[in-house]
Amino acid sequence: MLDVLFPPRCAGCRTFCRQLFCDKCVYTILKIRPPYCSICAEPFDALAYHDPLCRSCREAKTNFDCARAAWLYEGATRAAIHRLKYDGKSALAARLAPVLSHTIRADDTLNSICFDCIAPVPLHKRRERKRGFNQSELLARSLAQELEVPFGNALQRTRATPPQVGLNLKERQSNVRGAFTITPGFTSPPNAHVLLVDDVFTTGATLRECATVLKKAGAKSVCAVTIARQSAPDFQNNFEPDDLNWLTP
Ligand SMILES: [Zn+2]
Ligand SMILES: [Zn+2]
Repeated sequence: MLDVLFPPRCAGCRTFCRQLFCDKCVYTILKIRPPYCSICAEPFDALAYHDPLCRSCREAKTNFDCARAAWLYEGATRAAIHRLKYDGKSALAARLAPVLSHTIRADDTLNSICFDCIAPVPLHKRRERKRGFNQSELLARSLAQELEVPFGNALQRTRATPPQVGLNLKERQSNVRGAFTITPGFTSPPNAHVLLVDDVFTTGATLRECATVLKKAGAKSVCAVTIARQSAPDFQNNFEPDDLNWLTP
C-alpha cells in the first residue's frame, strides 16, 4: 500500500527502483577493505605499512575501541548521506540501517561485542531544531530496533561547534574539545559497551571526543559504526565495489 503512495526510489539519484540503489548508482558504492588501521579502519598502503595502527590512533590519548564504516564517502554514498541530512527522510534512515547492521556482522571485533546501548552522535539543540531532526539519531534508532539493543541519547552537544569542513584533524580536535557531556538523567548499566552511530567518519575527531566523554562516565568500551568514511584517494587497492547482493530490498 505504502509502495503505491510512495514508490521506493534510489537513495542516490531518486529514480524509481525497489533496491536501495539503482543499477547505475550501485557501481559507485565502494567498500573499504584491509589492510587498514585495526582501530579506525583508515586504509593503509599494503606495501609501505606494517603497523596495525594509523598515526591518529597511535597518538590519541583516548579513543574508541573500534570504528567501522560500510562504504567510502564518494559517489552515490555521498548523495544518499546528503539526502538523509537535508531532506529529512526518516524512511531513508530505516532503509540505511541494515547497511550498519551488516557492517557490524561482517566485522569480527564489532560482531563479538554484546552492546548495552546504541547512541547517536548528537547535534547541538539549535542545529537540530533548525534541521528538524538529527540524522544520526534516525540511523541509531532504526539500528537499535533491528538489533534489539536499547537506544539511548547518551550524549548532548553543549557547545555549538563551527562547521568542520576544511579543517584538518588537529583543528577538528580542538574544535570539538569539551563540546559534549552526558545527557542529564541518562543512565546505562555500569561498564557498558556503547555503540556510537554517525553518518560519516571524517577524521574521527568527533567520535574520539564522544568516546572520551563516555569512558570518563564509566563505559567499558565504545565502538562506532558509520555509513561512510572519508579516505585519502591514494589507496585505490583498498576500495572494492559492493554489489549489495547481501541486501534484500
Ligand atoms: Zn540511482
Ligand atoms: Zn586509526
